[in-house]
Amino acid sequence: MNLEEAKSKYKQLIGKQNAFGQAMAMLHFDGATGAPPNSFEGRGNSLSFLSGEVYKAFINKETDELINFLLDNKDDLDDITKRSAEEAREEFDRTSKIPMEEFMEFMKLRNDANHVWETAKLENNFPVFLPYLEKLIATLRRFANYRDPDKKPYNVFLDDFEKGYTMDDYDKFFSVLKERVVPLIHDAVPKSKDIRNDFMKLKYPVDKQKILTERIIDIMKLNRDCFAWAESAHPFTMGINKKDVRFTTHFYEDNIASALYSTIHEGGHATYELNTADELMYTGLDGGGSLGLHESQSRFYENNIGRSREFTSLIHPIIKEIFPEQFSDVSPEDFYNAVNKPEASLIRVEADELTYSLHIMVRYEIERMLFNGDIEASDLPRIWNEKYQEYLGVTPPDDSKGVLQDVHWSQGMFGYFPTYALGSAISAQLTFHMEKEFDYKADVAKGDLSRINAWMTDKIHKHGELLKPKEIINYACGEDFDPNYYCDYLIKKYSR
Ligand SMILES: [Zn+2]
Repeated sequence: MNLEEAKSKYKQLIGKQNAFGQAMAMLHFDGATGAPPNSFEGRGNSLSFLSGEVYKAFINKETDELINFLLDNKDDLDDITKRSAEEAREEFDRTSKIPMEEFMEFMKLRNDANHVWETAKLENNFPVFLPYLEKLIATLRRFANYRDPDKKPYNVFLDDFEKGYTMDDYDKFFSVLKERVVPLIHDAVPKSKDIRNDFMKLKYPVDKQKILTERIIDIMKLNRDCFAWAESAHPFTMGINKKDVRFTTHFYEDNIASALYSTIHEGGHATYELNTADELMYTGLDGGGSLGLHESQSRFYENNIGRSREFTSLIHPIIKEIFPEQFSDVSPEDFYNAVNKPEASLIRVEADELTYSLHIMVRYEIERMLFNGDIEASDLPRIWNEKYQEYLGVTPPDDSKGVLQDVHWSQGMFGYFPTYALGSAISAQLTFHMEKEFDYKADVAKGDLSRINAWMTDKIHKHGELLKPKEIINYACGEDFDPNYYCDYLIKKYSR
């Protein structure tokens, strides 16, 4: 085999992976956005079968040799193929240690567990979900042991979701937050209790909220030729490639902030996917650089832009035009204060910018205890409620508003949550550096996000996965990640 042959074979392999990936993603998307409830069974079987096909196509001697051949000749490769092959090597080593049958079974378990969780959450029934949760945890422990018996299982998962991050890194990160942000929360929450936000919870008909969603998408300049949105129980974004990006939102008639801010949040994820470099398409490197980086973009648009005084002033007249009665006595100042009111609340996705990281800290500490063997799955509701009382001073009235609120664990995703807090912190650092270069707030006030989008594209989006996450932060900021920007930002905003 010569190098040209190897490159062409490798391209075919990536093409095959993309094709399977797209098919499976569409099954997920369909399942979340409109498929009838009982379709979950057939979908589970199909996903399990397809994951087996992906496994066979990728985990075999031929692929192993192909990747080795490319990496043996890496000095003669272009940057994209070289980096893609390096990623493929890691993925191969990760997956090949798990037997195919167990891998397929896990895919089916995830699908079933997710389905049961939906009912459990709806009916406030943790016990019905517990056996699935126990099975997921046992499977993940086993997988972690196959992959790296010397590593603590939770460190294996943390590295999966944010490469290079361990419990040591997150412990340091959260201890900075604990030291600098928690006292601020304890100060700001009681002082803010008289801020009115009752008008955000009036009746906002869903058909009109959809008009608002469309207006937000226009402001964010999402390219409608490459992007579409739908409704689902839990908002998410899916990038097939830069020409096919979807996000979902969820409307609550009695809460306008929920869909509004989840649209801006998912719009941030979509902006990232839509702006990766053209030459990365179909190379295996055309997604976001990491979950933390992805979340830095969604949180940037949601908070640093969306909850700024300039942005709330920009969209206040739009909301007033769509909802004249509900906003009849709401001033721009009222609106700004309402969407920034710090509150000790129960639900992570509805948390304000200041208390958000506490919700993440609760989850991180619980996952850590769970995989370090300090607690069992059956302890989760109790521990959850205790931690909420300890950090936020509130106790959930039931498990639906407590331990069952998030989708992640039902899909076997442990180690994912801390990337949310990390993303928020990265977005503050990026905002600091953007502001040094130009007055982005003036652009927001004018409703023109083009320069902001272009800056983010140059610093973050265009790289896709061509650079490693820490390299991207260095490229964008000229320095390593530093959580103090986030603390400074929150302190400045909330000490007012
Ligand atoms: Zn997100």
